[in-house]
Amino acid sequence: MKSNAVEVVIVGAGLAGLSCACHLMKKDVSFVVLEADERIGGRLKTDKVDGFLLNHGFQVLQTAYPEPRRLLDCNRLALKPFAPGAIVRTEGRFYRISDPLRCPGDLWSTLTAPIGGFSDRLRMIRLISSARRGEVSRLFQTPDMTALAFLRSAGFSEKMIQRFFIPFFGGVCLDPDIQASSRVFRYVLRIFAEGAVALPSRGMGAIAGQLSKMLPDDRIRIASPVESIREGSAVLRSGEQIDCRVVVVATEGPETARLLGERATIASRGECCLYFAAPKAPIDGPYLILNGEGSGIINSVSVPSLVAGSYAPAGAALISVVLIGDLTFDDRKAESIVRKELAGWFGTAVADWRHLKTYRIEHALPAQPPPMPDPAVPAKSVRPGIYTCGEYGSVPGIQWAMLSGRHAAEAVLKEIASVVCPD
Ligand SMILES: Cc1cc2nc3c(=O)[nH]c(=O)nc-3n(C[C@H](O)[C@H](O)[C@H](O)COP(=O)(O)OP(=O)(O)OC[C@H]3O[C@@H](n4cnc5c(N)ncnc54)[C@H](O)[C@@H]3O)c2cc1C
Repeated sequence: MKSNAVEVVIVGAGLAGLSCACHLMKKDVSFVVLEADERIGGRLKTDKVDGFLLNHGFQVLQTAYPEPRRLLDCNRLALKPFAPGAIVRTEGRFYRISDPLRCPGDLWSTLTAPIGGFSDRLRMIRLISSARRGEVSRLFQTPDMTALAFLRSAGFSEKMIQRFFIPFFGGVCLDPDIQASSRVFRYVLRIFAEGAVALPSRGMGAIAGQLSKMLPDDRIRIASPVESIREGSAVLRSGEQIDCRVVVVATEGPETARLLGERATIASRGECCLYFAAPKAPIDGPYLILNGEGSGIINSVSVPSLVAGSYAPAGAALISVVLIGDLTFDDRKAESIVRKELAGWFGTAVADWRHLKTYRIEHALPAQPPPMPDPAVPAKSVRPGIYTCGEYGSVPGIQWAMLSGRHAAEAVLKEIASVVCPD
């Protein structure tokens, strides 16, 4: 069965595919985006449950990312920032640590928290300033090793590594052993230092929602899983074939590998995120709480409704609890262990928290072992007429998904322009 041919078929309506489509749209190229799911957005989605906004896992938009600022109307996203710092749970207590330049009021607690010594703080300042120097690409040209090896070679104390870097960077790359690339680690430090970490008021799903609004409805086909691709066409699971000049594969890394007929070699990193409704927030500010105890299954806790009031109905608080690493236990077991751990942190109030939903995302991110390539390098065709964007062969994240979508669009435009049409 054949349907109308288009110039470009984009497989996947996550940020990479939608960004690619938005750039092609501006240049009047005919395309269709084929999305397997019933909804667009890929990994960035938000559900509304009992008046609470639940993002699919703990996700934030780093305001220092240049590509979202380039394509999105950030004012319309109504971004609400987390506090520039974190609360670390260690030795049975909470300690607030902040960037002293942005939060001078937290200077004393930052200096005295039992999370590494004075020399760790000096090393941290040096590390951040070196990560901020020059172009981002410079970070991806330095020798790469695991973040853990990097921190040890930089002289950080084990206390600082265990109590801060492991819950922080382990949470960012969903890798509790912080075996991910030191290039990515330094890039993450840079982005956190250069801007805020924010939530869109209507949920993370609003980011993809805004991109899709730039596209006519008939250019996105949801519930249209692609079974196979080859030069000049894509075949849906239904058997429908769509002919085109170029295919852009914008799916998760393992699915991209399948569509290209390759074996997926990069491991997946998962996340389990439990949401609770509480009568009252257990903390008094928009902080991320990191588990620096070195034990327990919780990686972090936050109260999204303290960041953006729209995340909970009036008179209630939304609590988000993130687990990473070994996620083999089932949802009921996860909730019961989490409740016990939370009761140790916040006391008997936890008994009044109502479980709203648990999200289990098997492939939240790919593993990011060293050496990681420079994600700012534009895409090349993987074979004639076929391009990829997103995390495949690159670095995951909102910035890189959107940039890779633009790069794929630019490469496609060049390819289309280079074909000389006979009169
Ligand atoms: C829990 C979690 C937290 C995160 N936190 C952050 C964060 O704080 N900051 C940050 O920068 N990044 C974060 N990320 C990463 C970021 O969300 C992703 O890197 C980015 O959204 C990926 O976009 P993408 O378009 O490349 O892929 P995806 O969003 O995965 O989109 C791929 C799309 O392809 C579709 N698809 C798959 N197979 C097919 C097929 N055969 N046919 C048709 N369609 C198909 C999928 O349904 C999906 O819609 C997080 C991710 C998760 C899951």
